[in-house]
Amino acid sequence: MTIRSFHPPQRTLMGPGPSDVYPRILEAMSRQTIGHLDPMFVAMMDEIKVMLRYAFQTQNALTMPVSAPGSAGMETAFVNLVEPGDKVVICQNGVFGGRMKENVERCGGVAVMVEDAWGAAVDPNKAEDALKANPDAKILAFVHAETSTGAQSDAKTLAEIARKYDCLTIADTVTSLGGTPLMVDDWGLDAVYSGTQKCLSCVPGLSPVTFSERALDTVKARKTKVQSWFMDLNLVLGYWAGGGKRAYHHTAPINALYGLHEALVILQEEGIENAWTRHRRNHEALRAGIEAMGLSFVVKAEDRLPQLNAISIPGGVDEAAVRTRLLNEYNLEIGAGLGAMAGKIWRIGLMGCASNQRNVLFCLGALDAVLSDMRAPITSGVAVGAAMAAYKS
Ligand SMILES: *Cc1c(COP(=O)(O)O)cnc(C)c1O
Repeated sequence: MTIRSFHPPQRTLMGPGPSDVYPRILEAMSRQTIGHLDPMFVAMMDEIKVMLRYAFQTQNALTMPVSAPGSAGMETAFVNLVEPGDKVVICQNGVFGGRMKENVERCGGVAVMVEDAWGAAVDPNKAEDALKANPDAKILAFVHAETSTGAQSDAKTLAEIARKYDCLTIADTVTSLGGTPLMVDDWGLDAVYSGTQKCLSCVPGLSPVTFSERALDTVKARKTKVQSWFMDLNLVLGYWAGGGKRAYHHTAPINALYGLHEALVILQEEGIENAWTRHRRNHEALRAGIEAMGLSFVVKAEDRLPQLNAISIPGGVDEAAVRTRLLNEYNLEIGAGLGAMAGKIWRIGLMGCASNQRNVLFCLGALDAVLSDMRAPITSGVAVGAAMAAYKS
């Protein structure tokens, strides 16, 4: 067999990420590779840092993309801040909080888990009780936008509580950045990481992070070496920090960074508040269609993420067969449930440039057609109209 060039099919990505990538980003990534220490490239890196500060709504000097996906941003936060024996209170309400626990334990830290129901927001009172009961805790960690369930937590209140108990915060904003309000400085978050492939509509493989002065001081005051050479910020900053001479640490993913630069230019052009509003509006229209069909949301209205819609599967429906038909017949990808939610929900993403009217109507129409054809217990033929009415209101 001769293996030939790979040409992916033309899909519409409406799952939990990656989301559709803006064509402008793909075009930017196809430009010529230059050296990672080339002065022109270094100037572009500085622009990325400036634009990331806008995306995160922060003035933090240490704001940069880690050269690996969101999971590496998570590890960067934990390996730099957690030393052996350190106690970290973790609020878990889905899959990603569980990964935080893994990270803390692998750093030799002690994880104190505060569990909330999957599909609910983190309960700040429970977080406060845990901090009261553990006065030696150093960090409060939580997921702002739980992609596994579609629930949004109150990062501002959690950060306030953490400060009251003299703790740093680690916040997972992989799915919130660019899609829903995130104010790193106003809220006083300390170590924040995200991803490029969700609401920034960029390709996967980079993880924007930002660290407060307080967090950076903690990293610098460590008694032990960061156990990851690659993610040790003391070393990475030799390449990414501005001002002086840049030293080789690793070869930056140059073309991926062209893509992130373009994604951030697009975000600036739209305006971040407008991006948040757009995500909200498209969610409202999708919701109108989903509910008209007779389907229901997992998360209660006030805690719902606009960019990640978790929908309960109607009784007797083979959920995997529905997703397969959407993919094969409509080139449409929606997400399955993850972890405890596997087999119970679909996850419809409206992230980045995939959050648009055409996609909302297309997804509702395709879902309606497939479910009706499978004789699922839904109200057929009304979803698209309900969504269109929502856009007009
Ligand atoms: C997607 C996601 C991650 C992991 O990002 P990767 O780029 O897949 O490594 C972490 N946390 C949350 C909340 C996510 O949605």
